[in-house]
Amino acid sequence: MRYGMKWVLALVAAIGMAFAASPAAAQKFLVVGGGSTTGVYYQVALNVCKLVNQNLKSKGYNCIGRPALGSVFNINAIKRGLLNFGVAQSDRNWQAYNGKADWEGKAYKGLRSVFSAHAETVMLATRADTGIRKVADLRGKRVNIGNPGSGQRGNASDVLKIYGINLNDDIKAEGLQQGEASRALVDKKIDAFFYTVGNPWGGGLEIANSTALRMVPINSAGIKKLVSGNPYYVMTAIPGGIYKGVGKDVPTYAVKATFVTSAKQDKQTVYDVVKTVFDNLGKLQASHAAFKYLKPKEMLGGLSAPLHEGALRYYKEKGLK
Ligand code: GLU
Repeated sequence: MRYGMKWVLALVAAIGMAFAASPAAAQKFLVVGGGSTTGVYYQVALNVCKLVNQNLKSKGYNCIGRPALGSVFNINAIKRGLLNFGVAQSDRNWQAYNGKADWEGKAYKGLRSVFSAHAETVMLATRADTGIRKVADLRGKRVNIGNPGSGQRGNASDVLKIYGINLNDDIKAEGLQQGEASRALVDKKIDAFFYTVGNPWGGGLEIANSTALRMVPINSAGIKKLVSGNPYYVMTAIPGGIYKGVGKDVPTYAVKATFVTSAKQDKQTVYDVVKTVFDNLGKLQASHAAFKYLKPKEMLGGLSAPLHEGALRYYKEKGLK
């Protein structure tokens, strides 16, 4: 035997002591679910984790932001304990908490809000050569409505329904993940896609440089009615001048991207994460153009599931609640 038993025992004892001597540094792994790698959710997950890892290392935190399938997936993964936190649209939070749409008859009452982030516009993107100028022109076209698990899939089906377009009969609906949908639009394999996303969005900037990108207004009377009937929607516009070829504002409606968790997530962890984000908000704002205008007060708005107790503690301390 190369090492004597004495040494092995000494090593085991040393390791044991190292653990026993630093209980505060016990590893706390956190997994945060984002979205497609080219979207903005992934940037939220990555940059929140970066702040946590930079500021809370001494407390043992190790946070990983990972790509994921979107709002519906994230909410369900939080419920199953596969994610500690996730990014999700405020309309999907409302549906999950109240047992509607994807959660019909199975309300998820354990969903908790932490803060809201950027606004996301419901976007209908096409190429100039498709001739699609309004939602009605989608008839007979190949249209990506979003992968199952994405937040945009619900928005796409609402919009089509409001414009009287049948998802199964009137269009050729695709369920691609956004990375594939972007490529498919450029490669002319689809004619248009719906995506609910913050601006600017990296994938969109790329498409605009590869093809003649067009964006279609979504602002009929029916849409305005939908918006006025639901507190989590607002009428807005995709600002002109962001994406090459889209010079003017494109009217549409928007939701808020929110950071959510489970009621089962321990209070101290949620408190630590929220404190880190708010105490370092300048760094978060600088990390991506879509976060530039995040303001503490507004980050407590647009939340449709109850606040997590750990988040509430921080907001009360800061006089925000
Ligand atoms: N809003 C999209 C969703 O809920 C994701 C957008 C993004 O990844 O930035 O699936």
